[in-house]
Amino acid sequence: MKFNSHLSKIEVYEAGKPIELIVREFGISPEQVIKMASNENPFGMSPKVAKKLAENSSKGYLYPDDSMFELKEGLAQRFQVDSSNIIIGAGSDQVLDFISRAKLTSSSKVLMNRVTFAMYEIYANLVGAKVLKTDSTHHDLEQFYQIYKNERPDTIFICTPNNPTGDAIERDELYRFLEKIDSETLVVVDGAYMEYAEKRNPNFKIEPSELIDKFPNSIYLGTFSKAFGLGGMRVGYGIAQRDIIQNLYKVRPPFNITTLSLLAGVEALKDMEHVWKSVEINFQEMEKFEKFADEVGFQYIESATNFITLLLPERYNSSNISNELLRMGIIIRDLKGYGLNGVRVTIGKPEENIRFFEIFRNVL
Ligand SMILES: *Cc1c(COP(=O)(O)O)cnc(C)c1O
Repeated sequence: MKFNSHLSKIEVYEAGKPIELIVREFGISPEQVIKMASNENPFGMSPKVAKKLAENSSKGYLYPDDSMFELKEGLAQRFQVDSSNIIIGAGSDQVLDFISRAKLTSSSKVLMNRVTFAMYEIYANLVGAKVLKTDSTHHDLEQFYQIYKNERPDTIFICTPNNPTGDAIERDELYRFLEKIDSETLVVVDGAYMEYAEKRNPNFKIEPSELIDKFPNSIYLGTFSKAFGLGGMRVGYGIAQRDIIQNLYKVRPPFNITTLSLLAGVEALKDMEHVWKSVEINFQEMEKFEKFADEVGFQYIESATNFITLLLPERYNSSNISNELLRMGIIIRDLKGYGLNGVRVTIGKPEENIRFFEIFRNVL
C-alpha cells in the first residue's frame, strides 16, 4: 500500500521507556524501577492538582470547554499577555505540529541545531520541508545566522534550554540574533524547561510577553509536562501575536485536550510554590550528579534543566551502559541516536539519586 511519500524520511519516534515495560521484560517490581528518562518532575504534580482531579474524575464524560477560557486566563495572567495570544495543545508537541502544518509546505526550509529536540525534524519532514542543521552540539547563533543568510529558512527552531544537552542561551544573545531575522521568518523559541533555567540564571529567562512584543515573528512554547509535573495530562501552549495564533487555530482539531487536563492545568497554575520547591531541590541534587561525574571521570554539560547529560569516555559505550542500567531497573536516555556517546539522566528524588549513583558505579 502506498503512503504519503514524506513518511519514508521519518523514523518512528522512540519515546522514553515506560516503567511497565521494565516490569514486563525484566520481572522487576514497579517500586524498584526508577524512571530517569523523560524529564518528568520526580515529585509529581501538586497535591492540590491531584485532589482536583480525584474530585472531578466523573467529569470525563463531558467534552471540554473548547474555548479553554479558564486555562488561557490563567496563562494570560501568569505571562501578562492577552488570551488571544495563546493556543493550547496536547503538550507543546501538538503546538509544534500546528506550527509545521500552518507555516510549512513541501518547498519550505527549516533550520535547527544539530543536536536538539527530535520532534522539530519529524514534523518538518511530515510536510516535506527541507531540514537544515548547524553542525555544533550547542546552539551557535552565529552559525544559525550564516545558514539563515544563505538559505532563508521559513522557520527557525531555538530550544533554550536545549534538550537533550541542557545548556541555555542568554536572553541578550538571543535578542541580538532575533534582531537580524526578517519578519517573514517564524522563530520558535521552545522554553519547555524555562522554570528551571530562570532559577539557574536569571539571564536565561525569556519572558514571552517581551519576546513577542520585540519580535512579532516569534512564538514561545511552554509546557506543563516538566516542572509542573503533568506529563501524563498532555498540556502545552504557544504564545504569539494574534495573527500567528489565528493561523495555528485553523489546523487545531476541536477538543484537543481533555476535560481533566484543562482542570489540571488551571489548578497547577495556582500552586507555583510546588513548582519552585521542585526546582530548588532539583539544583541541589544536580550538584551531586556533577560531583559523581567528577568522581568517575566523566565530563558533563552544565545544565539549566531537570536533567544532566553525561559524556562517556571512549572506553564506554552509552548504549551498553543504558541497557545494563535498564536490567537493574533504571531507565535513562541513551544519546547514541543524537550522535553523542553520552546519556541523559533526569534528576530524581534524593533517594532515587543515591541508588542511581550506586548502581551506575557497579555497572561501570
Ligand atoms: C518535553 C519537551 C517538549 C514538549 O513536551 P509536551 O509533553 O509535548 O508538552 C517540547 N520541547 C522540549 C524541548 C521538550 O523537552
